[in-house]
Amino acid sequence: MYDVIIIGAGCAGLTAAVYAARAGKSVLVLEAENIGGQISFSPKVENFPSIKQISGSEFADNLFEQASALGVELELERVTKIVDGEIKKVYTEDGVHECRCIIIATGVKHRQLGAEREEDFVGKGVSYCAICDGAFYKGKTVAVAGGGNSALQSAALLSGMCEKVYLIHRRDTFRGEQAKADELRTMPNVELVLNSIITDLAGEDALTGVTVCTSQGGECRDIPLDGLFVSVGQIPENSVFADLVELDESGYIVAGEDCKTNIKGIFAAGDCRTKSIRQLTTAAADGSVAALAAVDFIG
Ligand SMILES: Cc1cc2nc3c(=O)[nH]c(=O)nc-3n(C[C@H](O)[C@H](O)[C@H](O)COP(=O)(O)OP(=O)(O)OC[C@H]3O[C@@H](n4cnc5c(N)ncnc54)[C@H](O)[C@@H]3O)c2cc1C
Repeated sequence: MYDVIIIGAGCAGLTAAVYAARAGKSVLVLEAENIGGQISFSPKVENFPSIKQISGSEFADNLFEQASALGVELELERVTKIVDGEIKKVYTEDGVHECRCIIIATGVKHRQLGAEREEDFVGKGVSYCAICDGAFYKGKTVAVAGGGNSALQSAALLSGMCEKVYLIHRRDTFRGEQAKADELRTMPNVELVLNSIITDLAGEDALTGVTVCTSQGGECRDIPLDGLFVSVGQIPENSVFADLVELDESGYIVAGEDCKTNIKGIFAAGDCRTKSIRQLTTAAADGSVAALAAVDFIG
């Protein structure tokens, strides 16, 4: 039996593992896909304090090594169910593990556009995070695809650093706040491309542009680009916990800055919980808060 089981080996989960292990607790991390989580797919990280530049995979490797050196155990197993009790049970596709408390750190998945070769261009012109990657496109021409608040915010942020920003949305109205959309309309370097769908990504080794056609399948045009920011939503991966832990309407685990869920001894850390900023720094902060709360709970 473990003191703490952590579900997810991203930045939040591995940071929680480091803190719990350093507090003398036995820790098992369960990871469904790849150690390091989302950041492993990023070629360059330049906004983590004290690290000027690092690749996402190196960042993840360092964190994993740090946790392993402290005696943290890790199994590649997908969690399918958790059961509450004085001794909590964590079911996976391969078996069941027992523990005193659980930290859920399952992150999110970025929804993709679904365009052909999209994955080939990730880190080579296609990004899912303007806060993370916007600075790489300073003075360049970019597009944002999407119509929600995060797309509107990304376009506003990029307009401050890029020469030109296209905001491409399949409808003529935005799901995001009207005030944010109105503000974008006043920005001279932002062009709204409405009622339009991206049908093709151009480029050999890196993205050089997109083809955009009207939603009704009418006229098409090619837009040369240095970068495309896909902002069509995030998918939290919390459905397996839904019968026990409270989720909000978008599927995020309801937990505040203290990372406590509605169930005593079950904590949520990182991108999987309700919060406004989803970054490595906030994931790491949550990991430490959740681990210390777990240590306190165990006593
Ligand atoms: C391409 C890209 C570039 C980015 N660049 C930056 C950047 O430069 N700077 C920055 O601060 N942020 C960046 N981000 C955001 C940052 O990566 C996230 O905020 C951070 O990774 C969140 O960490 P997390 O641990 O909460 O979740 P994640 O990294 O999503 O990790 C969650 C882990 O849980 C696992 N998991 C999910 N469900 C289960 C289950 N049922 N059982 C077991 N395991 C499960 C997943 O497989 C995953 O490995 C970027 C994101 C992307 C996608």
